[in-house]
Amino acid sequence: MTIQDFGINTSEVYPVTDSRQVLSPTQNGAAEPVFFAIQGEHHDGHRFITELYKKNVRQFVVETAALTPDLRHELAQLPDARIHEVGSSLKTLQELAAEHRSRFTIPVVGITGSNGKTIVKEWLAQVLSPDFRIQKSPKSYNSQLGVPLSVWPLNENHTLGIFEAGISKPAEMQALQSIINPTVGIFTNVGPAHDEGFRSQKQKVAEKLRLFRKAETLIYRKSYSEIDEEIHLLLKAVNPTIRLISWSTDQAAAVPVSYALKPIGTQISVQWEGRNYRVEVPFSDSASLENATHVLLATLVLGVTDANLLRERFARLRPVSMRLELKEGIHRNLLIDDTYNNDLAGLSIALDFLNQQDASRQKVLVLSDLLETGMKPDELYPAIARMVAEKGVSQLVGVGPEMGGYQSVFTVPTRFYATTNALLQSGYLNELTDSVILVKGARRFSFESVVSRFVQKSHRTVLEINLDALTHNLNFYRNKVGSQTKIMVMVKAFAYGSGSAEVASLLQYHRVDYLAVAYADEGAGLRQNGITLPILVMNPAPESFRQLLDYNLEPEIFSFRILEEWRQFLKEEHPQQGAEKPVVKYPPIHIKLDTGMHRLGFLPGEITALGEVLTANPDLRVASVFSHLAGSDEAEHTAFSQEQYRQLIAGATRLEQILGYRPLRHLLNSAGIVRLPDFKLDMVRLGIGLYGVEVSKLEPQQVQAVGTLKTIISQIKDLKAGETVGYSRRGVLTRDARIATLAVGYADGYDRRLGNGVGQVWVNGVLCPTVGSVCMDMTMIDVSETQAQEGDEVILFGQPISIADLAERIGTIPYEILTGVSERVKRVFYRE
Ligand SMILES: *Cc1c(COP(=O)(O)O)cnc(C)c1O
Repeated sequence: MTIQDFGINTSEVYPVTDSRQVLSPTQNGAAEPVFFAIQGEHHDGHRFITELYKKNVRQFVVETAALTPDLRHELAQLPDARIHEVGSSLKTLQELAAEHRSRFTIPVVGITGSNGKTIVKEWLAQVLSPDFRIQKSPKSYNSQLGVPLSVWPLNENHTLGIFEAGISKPAEMQALQSIINPTVGIFTNVGPAHDEGFRSQKQKVAEKLRLFRKAETLIYRKSYSEIDEEIHLLLKAVNPTIRLISWSTDQAAAVPVSYALKPIGTQISVQWEGRNYRVEVPFSDSASLENATHVLLATLVLGVTDANLLRERFARLRPVSMRLELKEGIHRNLLIDDTYNNDLAGLSIALDFLNQQDASRQKVLVLSDLLETGMKPDELYPAIARMVAEKGVSQLVGVGPEMGGYQSVFTVPTRFYATTNALLQSGYLNELTDSVILVKGARRFSFESVVSRFVQKSHRTVLEINLDALTHNLNFYRNKVGSQTKIMVMVKAFAYGSGSAEVASLLQYHRVDYLAVAYADEGAGLRQNGITLPILVMNPAPESFRQLLDYNLEPEIFSFRILEEWRQFLKEEHPQQGAEKPVVKYPPIHIKLDTGMHRLGFLPGEITALGEVLTANPDLRVASVFSHLAGSDEAEHTAFSQEQYRQLIAGATRLEQILGYRPLRHLLNSAGIVRLPDFKLDMVRLGIGLYGVEVSKLEPQQVQAVGTLKTIISQIKDLKAGETVGYSRRGVLTRDARIATLAVGYADGYDRRLGNGVGQVWVNGVLCPTVGSVCMDMTMIDVSETQAQEGDEVILFGQPISIADLAERIGTIPYEILTGVSERVKRVFYRE
């Protein structure tokens, strides 16, 4: 069957291959989905045709071999479905994508090689995005399936395509070549990854080179002699006119390249068409330099040759996201689980992350031999040793036959084990306490078993905290207030449910000015976790005064009573301290003024008297004078907020006159920063906005969701109409339904008011309503509209179920949803 026989116009439809995919038109504006039923190892798309039909999919590509009499019967029940019967759905998808590609004459970059494909693609797109409208592979979509899905959205608006191609078996590249049909090729490098499928390195290189059969230009590093040889032997034979851009730092090549180490990063110089180009990149490991050189040459080939422009853009290159997870482990350890990549760039990112954790803990790196860097051990391990020393690692635990031979290059204490098993059996891991442990190993070392020594794998509810989103939100508010205004971050109530110590560590790393907690023991907890920032305690009480003093926590003073109690306490502690000559320095205090909230604080009429008490006790130093807005989130209260502001200024001014010095003034919370920026004063107090909810609703798109509450399906059952689900038989089924039981309940913080269909959860791309009442530890949902299996992940809130929406459904505020997540729910922190 040929393409024409289909009547499928690739510009008008978009392909769907994963039945769980959310159905929505793609970037090319095509409105109609076509489902390609693909038979995989663990999955057969043909099983989901009727379900997709119910979701309004009408075109299906199916395989003759899969059409059992039952399936044929099933398909016959779908009145207006168009069924395209083919030999192989995947092959058809590929042929259609290749046909689609052939309609465009724009430059297309095709990237293959063992390592660095995704990074080169992402960087190239970063550098070229001002000049081109680019279609590129999402993430590392580089397979037989990923490539056609990446190319399909190409349309007339695009001026450049960038696609990566990865293969694991001989004869796979031919199909990818015809789909990508690159005009410019990049062969990143060749290493031992995916060796299994090939007889030899030579065969692998030869197969990969097929991608460039019709390319006009090919960029590659001459030092990979197998690549260089095969190009001249094979590629030149089929593509004699190809322009070869070989580069090298140490041998004769078309493009001489040199690297010079700079204080931050490296300068790359290339000799290109008689001119010398120099750019600086913020990296110095050899993998990143190789990738950046490929990107630079591709940029020049594509005609972007303005030296100043290039310098600017290369200086801005950033590491490509790779997810790093931070978990709490046994023996008060924190664990960073980095099993996502295995190169030097990845190690450098992970070490930065390790370094920014709790300063008081020892930092342990458990590292296997690095197998995919393309570096010789003689260069590699000294490079690692340098990084390890720079990034504050206190102890290196090396695993593998290779690293042990380089013991002498490391300057930090080391231990080496030949195998993962030897490490596990040594008992050393059990000795680690109060440490942050980064575990990073090549797949073949199965470091999962090391990780599971420290954390029990969670088979139930977790709250995932996206630290990148937190950083993004902090930066958003920082930019709003500018560099002249300090930021105090509220980390009360377990950092709004997100986990105080970890969030505080990140904030300390990003150098916020102050933290604030509700109670002294929250502050003490932060100090025990290495937080040295000033900390305000909003509800001090006499029984906690000792903690304030011991941990240098700064009390909010809101009444004459608490002021007198604090003064008395200090006097009893240090009877010899006289007003003239202070013996000890007490933590400073913060004066709270009540300007209309009527919660805590001195009223305007009390300020003169307050000033007199303070003047009589000069060792009670006032760090700030502040107040809290009652209605900063709603426009209707703006006049009231203005009046509160006026009163704060009046009160603070009066107090300063009496004191003779000027403490900080502050008023705004998150909503106030956005709605009333004129009142930012010396400092703002950032709370819920940092945690991903923009409560003024003026700029909701500017903050990113931080927390995602997830659980799993414990059991699924098919029930008949008329049966009931849960306590008091509240969930009455009006039709036959598949009901799944979730491992989450109101004791975890999934609000009971979300029961009986009020709440919806996200299962494999579909919103599913709750059924019956939420129980203490369990919740039932209707999964009839999705494909769900026991053990599947379920999202309760976060992306894509907004906390604001959830709060609205049950008549509460986002604050309650966030802080309601019980402490028994494990927090997992991650960076993309
Ligand atoms: C909690 C709190 C804040 C932060 O409020 P958000 O609305 O979460 O930004 C600011 N100031 C005081 C006194 C608070 O108690």
